[in-house]
Amino acid sequence: MMKFNPNDVSLVDRGAEARTDELLKSYEESSYNWMPGMDGLLRISKSSLGSHGFCPLKYKFSYIYRLPSEESEAMVRGTNVHNIVEYFWNHVDDVLDEVLTLIADDKKHVAKEKLFSVIPSPPTPYELGEQVVIEKWFDWQWNRLLITEGKHWKPIGNEVSAHARMEIEVDGENIPVHLRGFIDTVFSDGDGGSILMELKTGKWNMKKAKSMREEMQFYRLMLEEGGYADYLPVTHWAWEFPNGTANGGVKAEWEIEQLGTRKTSYAPKTVMRNLVKLVRSHLKDEFEPAPYAAKCEWCDFMELCPAWGGGMENAET
Ligand code: SF4
Repeated sequence: MMKFNPNDVSLVDRGAEARTDELLKSYEESSYNWMPGMDGLLRISKSSLGSHGFCPLKYKFSYIYRLPSEESEAMVRGTNVHNIVEYFWNHVDDVLDEVLTLIADDKKHVAKEKLFSVIPSPPTPYELGEQVVIEKWFDWQWNRLLITEGKHWKPIGNEVSAHARMEIEVDGENIPVHLRGFIDTVFSDGDGGSILMELKTGKWNMKKAKSMREEMQFYRLMLEEGGYADYLPVTHWAWEFPNGTANGGVKAEWEIEQLGTRKTSYAPKTVMRNLVKLVRSHLKDEFEPAPYAAKCEWCDFMELCPAWGGGMENAET
């Protein structure tokens, strides 16, 4: 599958990028396969927490045994699109003044082409529909530029590297953990606060809002616990699904929600509950399978899963 990354450094090669020595030390001491009795502390990312929620046993295969998963088309498509979005925001200043002048002169067609010229083309055409997704995403940014006239249009953070160390109370015991992640983009809310934005390249359905709120709350928690004052308070979160109609999805759309409303206020408790469940699994070494045919068919570890008659004797060595 064709992969294209025009950025100087990929996310995986960016290293820790911790803001303080304390956070760097905590990160270096942390690991996904930490178990009681080991030095250090448990590392948790949005993906590892989501994986544990999906199926604790699948989480164990991926994060504790470190068994590799097959790279899917969806993963490559997502990475290719994210690479372009990251590049676009890092380089849009090269043309932004000119684009705004063209818009002011009512030369919108030329302005739009100029803005689109920031997006580099891969050496060979995309193979997984990335171009359509990128163009949809670009159209949304173009429309926002027309409406905002450039004010608070650009993010204040692009692939923000975030860390936090905190304690999770599990059955009366405080267990230290290290939270780690990259936040796609952070925008100013224009009033001293920030808006977290997540880009997804999968399908959209109505059930997604709940899981999106929980993902965004994880980011918010990292920023708050990690002391990222320049992005606080987080007043809104948002998500964009430019490929939302794929695979039976219902819409390609972006949504924004204000925090502190009835719709969003359950998320902190839910995320904390999920963190407690994850840490408790490590403390007790209990990672039960959560079989469900529709999701297990996507799992790389079915042959190893006792829920489907498998076992570790089938593991490749
Ligand atoms: S096959 Fe299903 S139950 Fe088994 S590990 Fe994978 S997701 Fe979990």
